Amino acid sequence: MTSPVQFSVAPGVLADGGAALKALAADPSLRAAFLSSPALGEIFAVPASRFIVADDRPTLWQKLEVLSAKGYRTGVEHVGEEAFDPAEIEAVVQEYLALVEEAPANAADPVQLGFDLSNVGLLRSRELAVENTARILTAAAAKDITVVISMERSGFVDDILAAFDELAPAHTNVGLTLQAHLDRTKSDVDRVADHGRKVRLVKGVYREDPSIALPRGPELTRRYADLAASLLDRDVPLACGTHDAATLDLLDESGLTSHLVEVEMLHGVQPALLRSRREAGVPCRLSTVYGQNWWLHFLHRLAEHPPTVLTALADMADPSRIRFGAEY
Ligand SMILES: Cc1cc2nc3c(=O)[nH]c(=O)nc-3n(C[C@H](O)[C@H](O)[C@H](O)COP(=O)(O)OP(=O)(O)OC[C@H]3O[C@@H](n4cnc5c(N)ncnc54)[C@H](O)[C@@H]3O)c2cc1C
Repeated sequence: MTSPVQFSVAPGVLADGGAALKALAADPSLRAAFLSSPALGEIFAVPASRFIVADDRPTLWQKLEVLSAKGYRTGVEHVGEEAFDPAEIEAVVQEYLALVEEAPANAADPVQLGFDLSNVGLLRSRELAVENTARILTAAAAKDITVVISMERSGFVDDILAAFDELAPAHTNVGLTLQAHLDRTKSDVDRVADHGRKVRLVKGVYREDPSIALPRGPELTRRYADLAASLLDRDVPLACGTHDAATLDLLDESGLTSHLVEVEMLHGVQPALLRSRREAGVPCRLSTVYGQNWWLHFLHRLAEHPPTVLTALADMADPSRIRFGAEY
């Protein structure tokens, strides 16, 4: 992959650009247009391929082999969005069961899976989400595959924590993502840590009200490191999911990095930074996404770093800039 376009932009412009892109990502009519218009998908397919590694599972497995050969642990999420229709929910579950079925047996570093509970039934009932996740966890356990549940918008957090409480006692292979930007997370730590399951700490991708969440900035970075320390104090197997050099540096300076299970990044974001950590001997996981409904995932990647819009335009003009895995 050719390097992203590099330049500096005033922070206010970045914040405004990010907010606008997140609003676009959340707009249902645009999401519907993406699904119904092949042209929109075709136009953005090239720049999106920095982040969405494959359309289908056969291509996905080939791509994961490339990343494993370079020394990365891998993770997989099937791109999708909140599902309410029972057939759609079951299709998501079947997709994950197929991933488990096809995953190599006896792998030294089994692939890790992840998904939103709102993809597997949470919008209908927590019981359905728990039941479906348990089906996937049970199949995954036979291949030592861990499933790390994603964390969603603040309105879902209570239900997701309750689902995790139900799943964690019987399933050693379940993990949970926590968002450092939410003020409540500090008080959720004990409850989650008590289960002793894997936690992935992220800052949080959703736009939240300032009354309940911190915006990006040094205060959030410090809170992130404090939460990491407090999870490690409680012996939680902790993965840090961040693309931010300053956050990784603070973890280093605080003596926390060597206690992490791994540093994890999304495929396509900050490849040189993850490679530098791998070369320094830190276990690194590359979390990939695949599938066809990638509009939301793509816009979130642009929104969290708006200069990526220019990288996307350059990629559209010259698709040969993208060479899978080259920068890792
Ligand atoms: C493995 C993984 C799983 C995740 N799961 C969830 C989840 O379940 N729920 C959820 O809400 N969020 C999730 N996220 C997203 C996460 O919450 C953040 O939105 C995302 O990681 C951006 O925050 P950051 O700490 O990486 O960097 P930020 O603090 O947002 O950015 C700081 C700096 O990092 C660099 N940077 C950040 N992004 C980019 C980029 N795209 N390109 C180039 N440079 C960049 C820039 O230098 C930027 O100034 C996940 C992230 C990862 C890595």
